[in-house]
Amino acid sequence: MIPAFLPVKVYRKIREISMFLALLFVSSQLRPLASAPHPTLTSARVAHGLTAEEASRHYPIRIQAVVTYYDPSPNPRHSVLFIADSSASIYAALIATPTPPIKIGDLVEVTGKSGPGEYAPVIDYAQARRISAAQLPSSAPGVSMASMLAGEVDAQWVEIQGVVHAVHADGRHVYFDLAVRDGDITAMMVQTNQADFSSLVDATVAIRGNEGTVFNNQRQLTGAHLLFPGIDALRVLKPAPSAPFDQPVQPLAGLLHFSPSSGLSHRVHVQGTVTLHWPGRMLCVENDGHGLCAQTDQADPLARGDRVNLLGFPALGAFTPTLLHAQYKPLNLQAAVPPVPVTVDQALTGAQDSRLVSIQARLIGHDESASDPTIALSAGDSILSAVLPRKYLAQSLLLPEGSVVKVTGICSTQADGSHRDSTSGFPVPTSIRILLQSPADVAVLHKPSWWNASHTLRVLALALLVALTGLSRATILAQRVKRQSHTIRDSEARFRHLATHDALTELPNRASVLQSLEIAAGIARQTGGSVCVALIDLDHFKHINDTFGHVAGDEVLRQAARRLASAVRSTDVIGRYGGEEFLIVFNDMELENGIARCELVRQALCDRPIRWNDQDLAITCSIGVAAARMVQGPVPVLVSRADDAMYAAKSQGRNRVVSASSLIAADLACFAGGM
Ligand code: GH3
Ligand code: MG
Ligand code: MG
Repeated sequence: MIPAFLPVKVYRKIREISMFLALLFVSSQLRPLASAPHPTLTSARVAHGLTAEEASRHYPIRIQAVVTYYDPSPNPRHSVLFIADSSASIYAALIATPTPPIKIGDLVEVTGKSGPGEYAPVIDYAQARRISAAQLPSSAPGVSMASMLAGEVDAQWVEIQGVVHAVHADGRHVYFDLAVRDGDITAMMVQTNQADFSSLVDATVAIRGNEGTVFNNQRQLTGAHLLFPGIDALRVLKPAPSAPFDQPVQPLAGLLHFSPSSGLSHRVHVQGTVTLHWPGRMLCVENDGHGLCAQTDQADPLARGDRVNLLGFPALGAFTPTLLHAQYKPLNLQAAVPPVPVTVDQALTGAQDSRLVSIQARLIGHDESASDPTIALSAGDSILSAVLPRKYLAQSLLLPEGSVVKVTGICSTQADGSHRDSTSGFPVPTSIRILLQSPADVAVLHKPSWWNASHTLRVLALALLVALTGLSRATILAQRVKRQSHTIRDSEARFRHLATHDALTELPNRASVLQSLEIAAGIARQTGGSVCVALIDLDHFKHINDTFGHVAGDEVLRQAARRLASAVRSTDVIGRYGGEEFLIVFNDMELENGIARCELVRQALCDRPIRWNDQDLAITCSIGVAAARMVQGPVPVLVSRADDAMYAAKSQGRNRVVSASSLIAADLACFAGGM
């Protein structure tokens, strides 16, 4: 509309001039942004909301935000820092330890550059400067496991609710294993004192923290955990029962059955007669013809036949439920359970799973490399194994191979998940392990008479297969070997090989070795065993490339891979983790043995030079080693510990083995120094 007091011509002129001025103003504002491809980002939401491609352009970032999680490390690149402003949260990869030190709850200014992160955008090359004390964000959206596994809340400040199943600390972190409505998650905080949180087991809690996405090297999400700032971020919604052993006893047969009131998974109370006790690892009981094996850290002595009260969290086993994080209390009663005599075929129905059985078989080999002494047995056309707890390692089962024996122990039936009965859909048992209490559980019925050299060879080959495959039925093995030798020629198998192996060294690639680690962790979780990993990095490898060229560098990597592969046991897995880094997964191995073995690996790799083009190229390497009982903590934490230890080996002068345990003291000193 034209104001009445202005002639139309004048009005038009004024409008033209004002539009021109407005355009001039806007373009003067836009020009710096258009000509400078790197505007500074000042909000966590914008920085986290970039695509990977945009984030790779390294936009400068300057954000004022509150520290919601900070896990300092002597090596700043291994520190973990999450910050939140009013818009969102984001992970910052520090390049320097902040001075003065920062702590959770501080308002900080973080400067750095945008980076694609390994899953979602992060602040790279980050430096943090403390401004003042502040408050943690006052609200946090409640999230489900499903939304975390959909990647919707990566790095964000969220709240989860669940039942605490276990609490454990390793000197650096305290881990809370939680069952939430739609899955299991570990929430972890930095350990700053020796406080005991065991009263929280079975409590329903709400915890606020940053969602930590677990991913693989292809930027794919593989899991989630929560990193929370401290015990003040945990609220108890419903305390655990104060006298759990006074709760009503549930029948073993009813565990995991449908109940109209079932909700979050709480602890149950059962009773039974001890059929096997591996102190600090496993306790098996029987009641009314039903068996149950529980995983327990408790080591108080028990004998076969003792009646016990048992508390634990029910979980699915292959054929019978199991109890996790169990505790027990003897009832001072005796009620011996006679073993059920079975044949291998009867055992392979799965009906005897977790029960005390006795079985006749021929002893065909010893697996000396296992950290739990294992014997291989044959019965008819089947092979099975019998396993003793590792405290008998020195004695082993030194019975002559070829003996006919009667073994008495717990029948542990394995299934590999992919085999299901075509009509019922239930898993089909694939192998049997008998878990023994002591060497006395193997009674010799007949001494060997048929043993000769050809048998020895056949049996050794068989025993090796047995050790590698988890001891399956001979017929199944034979069929599989035959099938594999056919399909290896198939292009599908070749593609699979290419996808899982590194082209230069022929070793398993990073994704594949990490998958082996997950499998080793799964087995260790079942048996309460330990998994050890070692990260090996060649020292000053760039120097070889720079001096002799990349072809020489490649040959060094190939030969190093061969040396490493022959320095580990057949049951271990070695893979190329990246560039000149290798990862070894030592199945079922404690830290102490792992350190000793890594020293042998270091010598095998570095004690003599690598021959290339008539020249001797001397190499050295730094090895970081870490181990954990796998009931504890997520697997990626174990690798990052080994990485920390490897970094420490570098800074201590290279060409050495350093264990993660030796770093814990240094870390605690770092906290004491005021994180
Ligand atoms: P440090 O002792 O600190 O480990 O020193 P470094 O020289 O080994 O350091 P860094 O890890 O930074 O260097 C690794 C080098 O490995 C860089 C990269 O060029 C080289 N590299 C990575 N993959 C290959 C490969 O497949 N072949 C060759 N020839 N070189 C590689
Ligand atoms: Mg390296
Ligand atoms: Mg190196």
